[in-house]
Formats: sequence, structure tokens, C-alpha cells
Amino acid sequence: MIDTYANRFVCDLVAYEPGKPIDETARELGLDPGDIVKLASNENPLGPSPKALEAMRTALAEAHIYPDGGGYRLRSAIAAKLGLELEHVVIGNGSNEIIELLCHTFLNPAAELIAAEHAFVVYKLMATLFGARYVEVPDPGFVHDLDAMAAAITPQTRLVFIANPNNPTGTLVGQEAIDRFMAKVPEQVVVVFDEAYFEFLEVPLDTLRYVREGRNVCVLRTCSKIHGLAGLRVGYGLASKPLAALLQKARQPFNVNAIAQAGAIAALEDADHVAATRQLNREGLAFYQTAFAARGLRFVPSHANFVLVEVGDGDRVFAAMLKQGVIVRAMRGYKLPGWIRISVGTAAQNQRCLEVLDREGCRQGGGTVLQ
Ligand SMILES: *Cc1c(COP(=O)(O)O)cnc(C)c1O
Repeated sequence: MIDTYANRFVCDLVAYEPGKPIDETARELGLDPGDIVKLASNENPLGPSPKALEAMRTALAEAHIYPDGGGYRLRSAIAAKLGLELEHVVIGNGSNEIIELLCHTFLNPAAELIAAEHAFVVYKLMATLFGARYVEVPDPGFVHDLDAMAAAITPQTRLVFIANPNNPTGTLVGQEAIDRFMAKVPEQVVVVFDEAYFEFLEVPLDTLRYVREGRNVCVLRTCSKIHGLAGLRVGYGLASKPLAALLQKARQPFNVNAIAQAGAIAALEDADHVAATRQLNREGLAFYQTAFAARGLRFVPSHANFVLVEVGDGDRVFAAMLKQGVIVRAMRGYKLPGWIRISVGTAAQNQRCLEVLDREGCRQGGGTVLQ
């Protein structure tokens, strides 16, 4: 069997299961794709930035030319916006690629990666892929326990991932906890702050100060969430210059295509689209959280563009909602079989989602309401 000859770490891997695509759902259930609402991957319900669309249309005419492999214009735009220098910025095919570059650079079978129990699942997949030891630290109340994570650091630890806000829980660790953590982290450890939902925060955090100070820190951001460009695949890492230089070596020459670079530059400048998305999200989150509280459903108050809610049997509710054309995310893969995660949509999409959920007569799994 071919598996015998393959890398054991690859054979051991359980592939990432993304949100169910609209077209696949339509095909399998004989529904009209136009009638399906996807609230499964934390995408922007307003769509891409219109400015990004225009920039990409223009860039298409030059599609016969290789992209700028150094990503000069996009990296300069990111650096200028954040008060950093070009040498701090690494661009990736989604921030997922930056996660992979970090693992390429630091993991091996003798190394350890630390993350929280209910952290974004990609960290575990990557640790497995590189044969490293994945150290999972309990997160009581679904909030990262940074004191416990610091205590878990050993001489073998190379990477600590802090998703902030975390996906799928939507919880946040504050500045004070971060600063206390950073005061304890030894030099051989790279701290990764995965801030895919940073732009949704009501009170911004400052982790870039550690990048400026030259600490071994990488901050991840993405165009996939608030900028509405998940299909384009652009993310970036912000790191101290020596760390960024290492990540650049691990990167393929043309990892971010020319159309994506052009679209990302325009999206980052589109403050109106970002503001409109934030406002819509604020209203949508309030809508869901008020509705769940009124029904006595346990949920985790969210700082992002999705909410985790306990429905009794997550797989059953997911499947029943799917049949009615609403795609959410079942959470068994996160060891939360009683929960589903719902992304915030437009007001009409949220309304429909709640109606379908109500029809399923969800039961609370018990315990205290987290609010
Ligand atoms: C969505 C998400 C990402 C972003 O992925 P991209 O590859 O940039 O699309 C990264 N981290 C977390 C925690 C996320 O939820």
C-alpha cells in the first residue's frame, strides 16, 4: 500500500473540514443555490470591498505577468497603515499559509507547540503534519488561560499560538493578561497572536508593540474576514525583522497572486466597507445573543463575527438546518458535540437562521448561562 512509503505524519493527519459549500449543499439536497444561506465560515455578508473589485478588474489585464514576488506594494501599504516597516511584513496565501511558514521554520519531531484546548484547529493539524508535540492547555469558560500557557512552556517549546479573539469560541484575552504573559516568555519561544478578527474589536489590543520592540512575536491578520476576500486568499504576518526574514525564506516565490495583491491593497484602504461591516456585525451579534438569552440557550458572548451556541445535539441540528437551506457549523471536531457556531449574516439571513433554529426545538445541554 502506498501509505507504507508516505511520511507517517501525513498518514496520521485528519484533514481540515471546512464549512459546507453552497453549491455542494444545493447539489446534494436539490435546492436552488440562491435560496441557501451560508453562515458557516465567518465570511463577510456584505461581500468584497467594491474598491477591491475594481482594483482586481484592472489587475486582470496584466495577468500574463508574474506577480511581484517580493510583494512590495502590498507590504508597503500594510506597513504604512500599521506604523511598521516593510521588513516586518510577510504576505501569505491566507494567514493559514503564515501559520504553515511558522511551523516550517520552527517545528520538528523534538519541538512542542502550545495552544488552548478550544483554539483554532489548524494549529493542531500543523503540529501533527510536522511531527511536533501538540500541548493543549485547558481554557476554563472558553477563555485562553495565559498563565497556564506560560507555565506549560518547556525548553522544547518553539511556538505558542494565541487566537485573539479565538475561533470558534469568540472569546478575548485582554491587554493586561497579554502583557503579563509576555513578561514570562523566554527567548526561544515565538508567540503567535492570531488576530483574524482584530478589526471587529470594540476596544483594540496592542500586540504590535512587541513586534516593534523586536520580541519573537508574529501577529497574524487577514483579508478573509472583515475585508470580505476569503475567496482571494490573502493574509499577512507582522514580525520582528529577523523573524520575518526567516519566514520569507520558507515562502514560495509567488505565493500571493497578482490579482490578490491588487485587491488586498484596495481593500485595506476601504475604510467605509470596514465600518459598514462592523456596524452590521454589531447589530447581528446583539440580535443573536438577545434571542439566545430569551430562549434560555447557553452561548459564549462573542468578540468576533460569529457566536457559539449550545443546542443539545450539534450534528442533528446542523443536519436539520442544512435541509432547510441554512448552513452553520457543527462543533464535534472541537470536542463540543452539543454546540453549533453561527456566523453573523445580514439582518434577513440572521432572521431566517433563527426561524430555522426555532423550528428544530433546541435543548440546552445544562449548566450556567455564560453571560
Ligand atoms: C479565519 C481564520 C483565519 C484566517 O484564515 P485565512 O487563511 O486568512 O483565510 C486564521 N485564524 C483564525 C483563528 C481564523 O478564524
